[in-house]
Amino acid sequence: MKPMGPIPPFFDSEDGMLLIGGCGIASLIEEAGDTPLFVYDLGIIKAQVARFRAAMPAGVTLHYAMKANPYAPLLERMVSLTDGFDIASGGELDMALRAGMQPSHISFAGPGKRDRELEAAIFAGVTINLESEGEADRALAIAQRLGKTPRLAIRVNPDFDLRGSGMRMGGGAKPFGVDAGRAGALASHVIAAGADWRGFHIFAGSQALDADAIIDTQRATIALAARLAEEVNATPPRVNLGGGFGIPYFPGEVPLDIEKVGAALAETLENRPAILKDSIFAIELGRWLVGEAGVYLTRIVDRKVSQGETYLVVDGGLHHQLAASGNFGTVVKRNYPVAIANRFGAKPSTDPVTIVGCLCTPLDRLADKVLLPEAKAGDVVAIFLAGAYGASASPSAFLGHHAPLEMLVE
Ligand SMILES: *Cc1c(COP(=O)(O)O)cnc(C)c1O
Repeated sequence: MKPMGPIPPFFDSEDGMLLIGGCGIASLIEEAGDTPLFVYDLGIIKAQVARFRAAMPAGVTLHYAMKANPYAPLLERMVSLTDGFDIASGGELDMALRAGMQPSHISFAGPGKRDRELEAAIFAGVTINLESEGEADRALAIAQRLGKTPRLAIRVNPDFDLRGSGMRMGGGAKPFGVDAGRAGALASHVIAAGADWRGFHIFAGSQALDADAIIDTQRATIALAARLAEEVNATPPRVNLGGGFGIPYFPGEVPLDIEKVGAALAETLENRPAILKDSIFAIELGRWLVGEAGVYLTRIVDRKVSQGETYLVVDGGLHHQLAASGNFGTVVKRNYPVAIANRFGAKPSTDPVTIVGCLCTPLDRLADKVLLPEAKAGDVVAIFLAGAYGASASPSAFLGHHAPLEMLVE
């Protein structure tokens, strides 16, 4: 038997049927028409946003990193729930604008922006977080050709990283941002070239659960922004502090204490250097806002035994929910929280089962030797934490199965 991660504390059941947004999963599947199905509960997202607002000092703005989940109906709701979107491609720019986000509240980071993506962003009036001096020069030339004043911020590769972060984005050589030692000079350069300089974007890592690590990173980020501002001799209109707020996926992981983070940030901001007095501070979050709100529902097609090991074979797999198979950003395969969604809360069997997807590859293991209530073909498996880096971050074309269905409930 192997343990699994904690089921997010938002879910209830009625007569053994898992409820999402107050609705039983059998009726949700009926409404959608089939499995596999991603269901996103807007109520959970709203609760996360409210918790963020209550915890963070007034004036700190909340941006949604839309690569976590770009499902159009969800994006449309995120427009009014958050203060802006962070995008990372021309495709995301189209989706953000179509969802109704104001261009002036969109910022565009990401290495390898093509000329036509820069052009679309400048034309729309989106802030570009510059990743290099070369990108700055291309953006300035395109803006001149368009006769537009580009909104440009400098993405800084900080000289520190977020401790305990699942994905390190700063500290040492990186493809992201301009090294801290050259970021001030680049800001001066774009200002001298006549751009509308929007400030600094400093993102040091993702998926941190340790409040103290985030607090230290935010302090270091604000100190770095102040140092760079002194070099430029100008107040950055905006300082994007990055994000990195994680959620517990695996056994033993505990939720981030964001109230502690907020209290420390309030103190850090109160005592910030004078050159940042008029700056606006932003935090950009993806998974913390939407990750726990999503459930991937997949139906058991077969139950079989091989050499004493029981397998539940489902109609979904890593082509929809790659992360649960341990092949997206983790080194060791550990179990996501899973449940039998139509026997929710029933007594677990003492025989461990392994849940595998329908793909013809041994990588397609969604849960390894977990204890679940007795389940058979036709029952539905729920894989939690499917709201971020699920459908859009999985290789859905692999093996020619159908794309998953998605729905938003509230
Ligand atoms: C991916 C990304 C995020 C979101 O990360 P989460 O861990 O989902 O919160 C935020 N900012 C930048 C620059 C990113 O690349």
